[in-house]
Amino acid sequence: MKWDPEAAQRLERVPFFIRKKVKRQIEEYVAAQGKDIVTSADVTAARQHFTGGSTLTTGQEELSQLDLDRIRELVEKGVPTEALDTKYIKFRLCGGAAGCPLNLMDQMKPYAARLAEIAREQGLETFLAGSHDGPVLFHHQFKITLSGCPNNCSQPQIADFAVIGQARPSVTGAKCNGCELCVKACKENALTVDDNGPHFDDALCLLCGDCTRYCRKEVIVNGPERYRVLIGGKLGRHPHLAIPLALEAAWEEVEDLLRKTIVLYQTQALDGERFGDLVQRLGDDRVIKLIREQ
Ligand code: SF4
Ligand code: SF4
Ligand code: SF4
Repeated sequence: MKWDPEAAQRLERVPFFIRKKVKRQIEEYVAAQGKDIVTSADVTAARQHFTGGSTLTTGQEELSQLDLDRIRELVEKGVPTEALDTKYIKFRLCGGAAGCPLNLMDQMKPYAARLAEIAREQGLETFLAGSHDGPVLFHHQFKITLSGCPNNCSQPQIADFAVIGQARPSVTGAKCNGCELCVKACKENALTVDDNGPHFDDALCLLCGDCTRYCRKEVIVNGPERYRVLIGGKLGRHPHLAIPLALEAAWEEVEDLLRKTIVLYQTQALDGERFGDLVQRLGDDRVIKLIREQ
């Protein structure tokens, strides 16, 4: 996709750590209209489209503030899930599904739809309806949550089944200039830079992608999307934080783990038992073993 000089100049004013993402979004928007060159008018139109009518500002500080406001709004509100929710199954998607530039799960909406389909195929709704009488309250629902990055804005820690987007940073052959912007960007102190370029501490790295966004030289790039899967979180009288079932799963494994989690629930639950209560009763290790052995 080509950019005319004025549009390219405006792109340059986007804060560099989200520039790649903004560029891709604008190009997708323009391509969807059958065009192959981005003009300044297209940038304005795309901006209005993605910000729900806000006008494009020209100064970097204003634009940066606009982006930050947008991120804050997305983080606070998440995105609507009525199309996925059923009486007994409730979805929660973070603002990554609506354009948060920190998102590392590009296909969040289709992935959520796929998980809804699997829950339906496995008969989860019927199972839950059959084990409960009376009005359906919040704690009767099985909650499936997706977060686009390890910031976890959709609260996966208290979901029955949660998926978190991640990307392991990897080093290309490009020349590192030693600027250490990546080091400053890393909130986990998981990264150092020496004459040979960047080095990662795997024990500390959260796979959040912050260093990649800050590296202007493309020395660090994101590896393929991977997903952390958590299960069994809940609030209520006996809160329980969700436990990790997989640390760096490919998407196919995520789908398989949802199937197996539902089978475990259907075969091991006492009458009317919440999934989080089942995990507490059986114990974290046994639950993981029972799922892995299926
Ligand atoms: S979890 Fe990450 S991608 Fe999702 S809204 Fe929060 S910061 Fe954005
Ligand atoms: S991916 Fe995140 S945690 Fe890991 S080194 Fe980069 S900035 Fe640090
Ligand atoms: S890896 Fe990139 S951000 Fe980090 S010091 Fe090298 S050039 Fe700078």
